[in-house]
Amino acid sequence: MRIMVTGGAGFIGSALVRHLVADSPHDVLNFDKLTYAGTLSAVEKVSGSSRYRFVQGDICDVGTVRRAIMDFQPDVITHLAAESHVDRSIDAPGAFIQTNLVGTHVLLDEVRAYWCALPDARRNTFRFHHISTDEVYGSLGPEGLFTEATPYDPRSPYSASKAGADHLVSAWGHTYGLPVLITNCSNNYGPYHFPEKLIPLMIVKALAGEMLPVYGQGVNVRDWLYVDDHVRALRLVFERGTPGESYNIGGNAERRNIDVVKTVCAVLDHLRPRADGRAYADQIGFVADRPGHDLRYAIDASKIRHDLGWSPRESFESGIGKTVQWYLANEPWWQAIVRERQADQRRGLSAA
Ligand code: NAD
Repeated sequence: MRIMVTGGAGFIGSALVRHLVADSPHDVLNFDKLTYAGTLSAVEKVSGSSRYRFVQGDICDVGTVRRAIMDFQPDVITHLAAESHVDRSIDAPGAFIQTNLVGTHVLLDEVRAYWCALPDARRNTFRFHHISTDEVYGSLGPEGLFTEATPYDPRSPYSASKAGADHLVSAWGHTYGLPVLITNCSNNYGPYHFPEKLIPLMIVKALAGEMLPVYGQGVNVRDWLYVDDHVRALRLVFERGTPGESYNIGGNAERRNIDVVKTVCAVLDHLRPRADGRAYADQIGFVADRPGHDLRYAIDASKIRHDLGWSPRESFESGIGKTVQWYLANEPWWQAIVRERQADQRRGLSAA
């Protein structure tokens, strides 16, 4: 098949591109604007393949989107391009509305025109797959899990823009018959993660000898999903999922933020002990909380397990071990990003 990946230079998109080019028979078009969050270095390993191509473009730009689709003639579009950082959405929501809502609308309209003109056989097998988040469901108390039937209740500009995009995608499915799929996943982590997000930020700050800034009391709970497990799930969904359905994807690994940070510290103590013999956990500090910080997200992933036979292979401990090892082995990659893109700056306090 010919798979167009929007956002293929980002964290999850690049993992999907690397997987598809290296471990599947599919041809891949990576369509990415290369914002601050995108880097082609994340797909360097596969970019020499004859089954890979790249177009730099904005999903909000009708002409570029149309040309890319018409030239590539995709069988599947996996849509990951987005503004993705909650803290940035608090300071500057406009970019999130633009890319996540307006951009998704442009893409849907162009895809619909393309799909309508396909011959019957290809029209029946075409899929548009939107990659979304568990944050659309809002915040949980200490009990309960998000299922695919949980009502949407987004509470940050980021999650509201993703919820809106999900609704647009389902509307294009219901109204126009476009064969759409939606997946809502929990927090991903792993190699090539932009170091503004919790786990890579803690690794780079720990190695720099800086304070490890934990928001509030560190009691917010997230479910953690190793990115390669997520990528396997995405491929199953667009290859075998039922159009019109949505699937929750989670790592079965709920942790409080403070426990995530302590685990990162313990792995670093083992793999790269501090020169002064002290523990990395001594660097932990508590800082002002994120405004509107959702308390807990937790995913019930039984539907994708039953319907498509997917389950995560990594435990939280094995995934964190792999991730820390990768950051230790790839310091030039993240050092350049921290230096050039101020990835490690605190954002999102403008509402406080
Ligand atoms: P990311 O921020 O690392 O990457 C986003 C990519 O999209 C970048 O390469 C960027 O250049 C590109 N992009 C941004 N605006 C664009 C535009 N207008 N046109 C074309 N390309 C554009 O994000 P990620 O963490 O890889 O997340 C990918 C998707 O998964 C997003 O839709 C996000 O909402 C969703 N998601 C992520 C997580 C997570 O834990 N990372 C969890 C749930 C859902």
